[in-house]
Amino acid sequence: MTTAIEANERIHSALENLEEAAKQLVHALFETDDSRFFPSQPMEWLHRIERIKRRLDAAQTSLIAAAEARHLPRHNGATSSEAWLRNELGMSISTAKDAVQLARELPVHPAVRNAFCAGDINVQGASAICEALRSFPAKTPHRTLEVIEEDLVSTAREKGPTSVARRASEFLHRLAPEALAAQEAQQQEESRLKLRVCPDGRLNLRGMLDRESGALALAVLGSLAAPSSSDDPSHPRDSEQRYADALVSVLRIAQSSDKVPTVHGERPTVVVTVGLETLCQKPGQGPGYLQTEAPISAATARRLACDARLVPLVLGNESEPLDVGRATYTPPLSLRRAVVARDRGCAFPGCDRPASWCDCHHMVHWADGGSTSIDNLCLLCPRHHTIVHTDGWKVFLGEDKRPWFVPPPWVEPDQEPRQHMRYRAGPLLVPATDVVAS
Ligand SMILES: [Zn+2]
Ligand SMILES: [Zn+2]
Repeated sequence: MTTAIEANERIHSALENLEEAAKQLVHALFETDDSRFFPSQPMEWLHRIERIKRRLDAAQTSLIAAAEARHLPRHNGATSSEAWLRNELGMSISTAKDAVQLARELPVHPAVRNAFCAGDINVQGASAICEALRSFPAKTPHRTLEVIEEDLVSTAREKGPTSVARRASEFLHRLAPEALAAQEAQQQEESRLKLRVCPDGRLNLRGMLDRESGALALAVLGSLAAPSSSDDPSHPRDSEQRYADALVSVLRIAQSSDKVPTVHGERPTVVVTVGLETLCQKPGQGPGYLQTEAPISAATARRLACDARLVPLVLGNESEPLDVGRATYTPPLSLRRAVVARDRGCAFPGCDRPASWCDCHHMVHWADGGSTSIDNLCLLCPRHHTIVHTDGWKVFLGEDKRPWFVPPPWVEPDQEPRQHMRYRAGPLLVPATDVVAS
């Protein structure tokens, strides 16, 4: 038997040796002067370092359990073990929570503890197994739980921590289907989405969806986030950026759907408050504002105020609301339908974005005296609407009564007007009665 004093001495000398060895390792790796240096066995060394880190995590978990058992956090004036770890070791609060939970549960799961101490599984794997074992009903026989625990350890070792929850759900369904159903109901109950407007006006999203809703989100957002032939090859978007665009597309589709609930009898609308002088791009004017109070540039205000689905609240010289937005500048639904029937999608040459994603763009901005009539409107997807407003493309209605695009000189010095392929064949499908603005 090892006495407490002997154990303390062994731990002390092991830590001394470890510190010295770690110092030498870092020194050897970082302080090599020769720029041609390349580790002779990089993979093997990486694996060995990973194994050592896992063992050290196991040692730290054991010390956290010992500290908790002796109420060390409380004696040190901390409100919780998690807060104590955060203050003492600089852990993030979520890492500290996981560490404390694991320290409490590890002693009752010997197979997990052995694999963790041997460096076979990492701290995420150990935590995932303990969490999965918690979901089994209390009446599950002890021997069955032991078999499951060993199986989950093999799963974590061979397939990684992310496979553990799925394997555990399969066991749970075989043993107690009602428990899996209850878990689903609980996940649905716990679904949440936190929206926070940042000081700079951007929206921060954080949340969690249950399995079924998550699968729906992935299916819908995945289809909208798929790379498209109309993506700009000079500005490739990574998958996270494309998912953000996809979420905005879902919101735009919802906004133009009649299934979205109305607020005070109207569809949800973005309100833009902007001075008329700013809208007319006179120099030296203040910015426009969204209803979140975020300031927006004159160019963005013009683009937003250009579309049918946004209500501009225009201020006069004395900042008094002129309140001309809705009455004069929002195209009535029948007019939008006529534009949709003519353009059938984004009118920008080469774009395949559908009409439901598109804004109604005023070819001559209403702030510059353009009318809200079909001859002055065309459909543009958000990206091409931005390009038209910022990159100097001009749009006009040709003699064929369809939109033509004039590129800026830096895109094409001759500025030859271009048209979308889809207008080149077939007659116009717009009923004559719908073409007239109401
Ligand atoms: Zn526009
Ligand atoms: Zn487009």
